[in-house]
Amino acid sequence: MKLTIGHMYPDLLNLYGDRGNIITLKKRCEWRGIDAEIKSITIDTNTDFTDIDILFLGGGSDREQKIVSDDLTLRRAKNLKSAIEDGLTLLSICGGYQLLGKYYLSSDGNKLPGIGALDIYTVAGNKRMIDNIIIESTIDGKTFKMVGFENHSGKTFLQNVKPLGRVIYGNGNNGEDGMEGAVYKNTFGTYLHGPVLPKNPEFTDMLIRKALDRKYGKNQLEPLDDSFEHLTQNAIIKRFAKK
Ligand code: GLN
Repeated sequence: MKLTIGHMYPDLLNLYGDRGNIITLKKRCEWRGIDAEIKSITIDTNTDFTDIDILFLGGGSDREQKIVSDDLTLRRAKNLKSAIEDGLTLLSICGGYQLLGKYYLSSDGNKLPGIGALDIYTVAGNKRMIDNIIIESTIDGKTFKMVGFENHSGKTFLQNVKPLGRVIYGNGNNGEDGMEGAVYKNTFGTYLHGPVLPKNPEFTDMLIRKALDRKYGKNQLEPLDDSFEHLTQNAIIKRFAKK
């Protein structure tokens, strides 16, 4: 079996070690004998996303988001939205997550349009939300905690879409409603940087399973030894989560 991982805008959306997410996806596939190829997709790359099994968009500053917003909305919106509707497995973080929504209104009043695949909008607030973050998610009937690091001023509000999880510690989408991230079909958005996947093996495997299921109609994954990952995860939860 083989999965192709599309890394969108590695030159523009790459904050706080986001590339670690790509390495984690690749390694957890390879440790199970699943081939994983990484394709970089940036401004001048042609793709209609039918050659991609897992797509990843990281975070970026407002300046980079402006370039990405133009490319996404002017060149890619139709193909990307139809791939999302078709069940493409997609993980987007922070700046990338914001641009899958309707728009991001930056602090200087610039309204950057997104592709509207997620029914969310984001408005820059006047306080940066920088902290560790712990959330609890239920995906496909499985409930698990996730840990990460967030650094954003954008406040995201969900409309007709489900959150990825509820905030146990930290700010999440907007620091107000206790929700974090968004899920639509197999598309996930989150503010968990850090990167998120090395620290959260359950979430990583869920993405790999969804991609295998879509491509091969089977999604059994051999278990791996995640004791080191759980040690880190539990230490963060113990340190920050309130009882
Ligand atoms: N510019 C966005 C914000 O601060 C995204 C930042 C990020 O991707 N970390 O809200």
